Amino acid sequence: MARLDWLVLPALLVGWYLADFLSGLVHMYMDYRPCPPGKRLNDLFFYAGSRESAEYQAMLRERMAAITPLERLVYDFKNHHPRPLALGRRSLWRLIGSSVIIAALPISLALNAALLVWPVPGWFAAGVFAFLVGGAFAQLFHASLHRDHNPWFINAGRRMGLLMTPAAHQVHHDTLQRDFATNCGWSNPVVNRLFNALRRRGYLEDAGLVPSS
Ligand SMILES: [Zn+2]
Ligand SMILES: [Zn+2]
Repeated sequence: MARLDWLVLPALLVGWYLADFLSGLVHMYMDYRPCPPGKRLNDLFFYAGSRESAEYQAMLRERMAAITPLERLVYDFKNHHPRPLALGRRSLWRLIGSSVIIAALPISLALNAALLVWPVPGWFAAGVFAFLVGGAFAQLFHASLHRDHNPWFINAGRRMGLLMTPAAHQVHHDTLQRDFATNCGWSNPVVNRLFNALRRRGYLEDAGLVPSS
């Protein structure tokens, strides 16, 4: 096994930064990617009655069954803007399931395979580890910003500046045009610049923020 060295700490921070950056990119894309037209997700989004009602629950099941898992995620990101507390109530598995399956699992398997054929330096493995933890738990960290009671490690992370605060994330909800990263927020200055550059070129139109038909 490769020995640990002084590079481990900066590598952990770089991995943590990159996971934050990824959380910002994915969030920005999901917020502005239009929902599939004709699937009548607008009826769900703008439903005025009780979301506990049998009518709404039946409609939710029917409309969600008619779209792909990616389209469901896209809808979830938009739905969380007017109803952030719903995200805060989600179960742990629902929050980390898709990120673990899509990203963390394949990357960790690849790292394990690399360890078999190449003496991977300790600092590199540490950086990948921080990236995987930040990536896999990104939606859990985001949900923690929308609930009052959190496990101790969330509060400790905030005190150390490794996780962002609800007040900092509120800036995103107030504008929907900035601060998309939701882990530690370190990458938000870069993500904001990217967002502004894409907007100037005509991408990421406001119409994508809500389902239209
Ligand atoms: Zn958003
Ligand atoms: Zn949020």
